[in-house]
Amino acid sequence: IYTNPIKLDLDPNRVLGVMALVEDITEITRLENMRSQFVANVTHELKTPLTSISGFIETLKSGAIDNKSVRSRFLDIIEIETERLNRLIDDILTLSEIENRSSNTRKEEINVKSSIEEVFFIMKRIGEEKNIECDLEISSSLSSIYGNRDWFKQMLINLIGNGIKYTNENGKIYIKVYEKYNKIIISVKDTGIGIPKEDIPRLFERFYRVDKARSRKVGGTGLGLAIVKHIILSFKGSISINSTLGEGSEFVIKLPIKKMHK
Ligand code: ADP
Repeated sequence: IYTNPIKLDLDPNRVLGVMALVEDITEITRLENMRSQFVANVTHELKTPLTSISGFIETLKSGAIDNKSVRSRFLDIIEIETERLNRLIDDILTLSEIENRSSNTRKEEINVKSSIEEVFFIMKRIGEEKNIECDLEISSSLSSIYGNRDWFKQMLINLIGNGIKYTNENGKIYIKVYEKYNKIIISVKDTGIGIPKEDIPRLFERFYRVDKARSRKVGGTGLGLAIVKHIILSFKGSISINSTLGEGSEFVIKLPIKKMHK
């Protein structure tokens, strides 16, 4: 190019070629920036529990191990942090699998009613541990949807799980499922802490948490809603959030029922 710049200026085709290349590079740079930002975030998230684990092991080794109550408290912390690392790695793997296979995943017929009832049965038990009552209202005849059944269930587990995590003891979760205008509508509503308006647009970003300390305390990884978003994309569906601080939140998912063969 630079050996003969005048020729380049006079040749409109070549100038266009250069323009297209510049745009491509911009897109590649943007994706690379996103990727390296994600790697930085993942590294930070993994490092935090690891630092804590190695710190407590060091303290144990330098004498704390001889004190029975201190030893048992430190071992509990190490166990909690190890479980946290496990959850983080599971969620990172799930997210990357869904992102990579989103468009070419196996599309199987999903019986919406029985899949939701299976998840509901498990989540109701988890809610009971916090004295949270879970209620399910589901239409008796619902069309099937097509997509990855495990992902469909994972989406429900994450949303109902969040409802339980961000609702105080004695609260309630209502799940309502019906069909309207060729869509399956799933509403997951809780009487929990609610979400500040300004945070709602960012909730689906990886590792975004309204209150990091609270999320940690309830065992959150900050990836649950990013996973939900990618699952909904694979179903070509949509999600919306209504929330009032201090009163509760409602997540509404709409999934098209038209058959989507591979
Ligand atoms: P986490 O693992 O932290 O729960 P998520 O991606 O599932 O991560 O959710 C992101 C954040 O959105 C949470 O940290 C929490 O602040 C907020 N959030 C999600 N669901 C609810 C809910 N039902 N009620 C209140 N806040 C919620």
